[in-house]
Amino acid sequence: MLDPRRALTDLLNVSSLDLVELIELKNKSREIPKRSPEQVAIEIKRADEFINNHGPLRMVFHLVQPARKTYAEITPAETVRVWSLFFAAALYESVHDQEEFTNHVLSDIFTEVVGKPGEERVGFRVDFLRSTVEPIARDLLDAIAIEMIRSRKSIARCVLCSKFFQRQWNKDKYCSPLCGDEARRKGQLEWVQKARAKKKLETKKGRKSR
Ligand SMILES: [Zn+2]
Repeated sequence: MLDPRRALTDLLNVSSLDLVELIELKNKSREIPKRSPEQVAIEIKRADEFINNHGPLRMVFHLVQPARKTYAEITPAETVRVWSLFFAAALYESVHDQEEFTNHVLSDIFTEVVGKPGEERVGFRVDFLRSTVEPIARDLLDAIAIEMIRSRKSIARCVLCSKFFQRQWNKDKYCSPLCGDEARRKGQLEWVQKARAKKKLETKKGRKSR
């Protein structure tokens, strides 16, 4: 069952790079910076899970060319890892009013022709008389890109575990009830510890003044 909403957040959560690193990546070169073997193993596991749940993603070769490999050399998991980075960077830029990069990524996704020989088509419909462009979902990558255009402002990162998630309400801070409960528990623990420390200090002061 195609679920672009879940696919988008699952895709964003494949990469283990943080956003500051992502922006540096964008400014310097397009190659993925070196990650530890443990990080790579985790990302490949997440990418495989993504493919199991949603399916593989098309590679837009002129946009992302990991380590100058050819089409045949890029594994499906590697493709998912690369898109995870690109979507996270595009999302970050679009909410920080730097839409040029985001538009560049989106336009490359939709302008590439996709389909069997003789049935290739671009991913958008143009109405010249009304000056409108409407994206078309030809495959999973298009569907995820359309979802990002539509819901990018409601995607947030969990305050506790930093996972990407779709906010239901504007003030949602946690990706799941589990993280919410955990944060509340931690908050209560901190409150109790602070209250105890304060009490200790007060009894000390009390003793001194006697
Ligand atoms: Zn969380």
